[in-house]
Amino acid sequence: MKSFRVGVLGATGTVGQQIIHRLRRHPWFRVTALAASERSAGKNYADVVRWRIGGPEPAHAAGLTVQPLEANLDCDFCLSALDSSVAGPAELDFARAGYPVISNSRNHRMEPDVPLLVPEVNSDHCALIAVQRRRRGYTSGFIVTNPNCSVAGLVVALKPIHDAFGIEALSVVTMQALSGAGYPGIASLDAMDNVIPFISGEEEKMESEPRKILGRLSNGGVEPADIGISAQCHRVPVIDGHMEAVSLKLRRKASPADVVATLSEFRGEPQRLRLPSAPAQPIEVREEPDRPQTRLDRDSGEGMAVVVGRIRACHVMDIRLVLLSHNLGRGAAGAAILNAELLAENGCIVSRDPSRAKHFASPSAIG
Ligand code: NAP
Repeated sequence: MKSFRVGVLGATGTVGQQIIHRLRRHPWFRVTALAASERSAGKNYADVVRWRIGGPEPAHAAGLTVQPLEANLDCDFCLSALDSSVAGPAELDFARAGYPVISNSRNHRMEPDVPLLVPEVNSDHCALIAVQRRRRGYTSGFIVTNPNCSVAGLVVALKPIHDAFGIEALSVVTMQALSGAGYPGIASLDAMDNVIPFISGEEEKMESEPRKILGRLSNGGVEPADIGISAQCHRVPVIDGHMEAVSLKLRRKASPADVVATLSEFRGEPQRLRLPSAPAQPIEVREEPDRPQTRLDRDSGEGMAVVVGRIRACHVMDIRLVLLSHNLGRGAAGAAILNAELLAENGCIVSRDPSRAKHFASPSAIG
């Protein structure tokens, strides 16, 4: 049985709490270190965190002392849920010091030698870790990121359609949950009874990150997929769960029934490897005319399944559909943990404890 010690950077925030919650009974990973800002450092986690998940703070983390953001934590790898104002240099410090860093933050996503990883879609991009280490002179450390929370659900649904029919262009309109803005996020008087048609930087991420994720490895980087993307992003007054209305122009003809079959049959590398956080079915297709719905469907597959419905012909493009994914599960904490599971399985994460290192595989598996 694998056994790794995890450090959570940004442990007190919305995503950090979800990571800790999701690791409470993890078969491979044990939380041994927590870090956050100077406001929290030196204090007991239970005393400093404003726990926003039902039930008490989990016992496995409650008694730990929050550390300052210094690259000397007692752990084998780090899951980073740092605010993007500090994540850039901090994650570099940890990687340089030898820690694998699996990040939720936007800072390093588009760097050519950093895998922007969604295991169902581009597990082969783990090969960039060797390139990154070589170029940057890292020893055991590296940075891997997961995408923006709206991109995470979108690319899982796009992958099988792109493989089967080729996507030439797409238009996506998002309806994004409040928790996507972190805590405390948007003031209640701005959020309630309202839709805000602007999320800073979001449309740019929606239009660039899927092209990298669906792209091909080439010359030590990624050649972006040749897909035109137009995104419009909205904040809506739901707490968790991002809904997206998508229209697709395909390179090869497909009926709605073809797309239903392609999505329903899709399984990726995490399902093949039976990774602990992998949903049995990464895409759940709903055929009722009024699904997916946020409250009914966001927790499918423990918040890791992408729920797709309303698959129908489009009279302007070719196919249109609606998808829903949990922004903190598939879009953040669950995504980072699934990435860590893949990296542990393929030997990229190893124990940093010298007395145990010999029990773990070498990173040669990633070439
Ligand atoms: P959040 O609730 O605002 O939490 C931010 C965390 O960063 C807190 O633990 C905070 O610690 C820490 N932090 C802030 N300034 C710091 C400093 N100077 N030094 C050290 N730590 C500092 O934000 P979040 O929603 O969890 O998001 C975390 C990251 O994930 C962001 O980069 C965000 O863009 C990304 N992300 C979020 C979502 C989502 O749905 N929320 C989805 C995907 C990606 P203190 O409590 O001590 O201040």
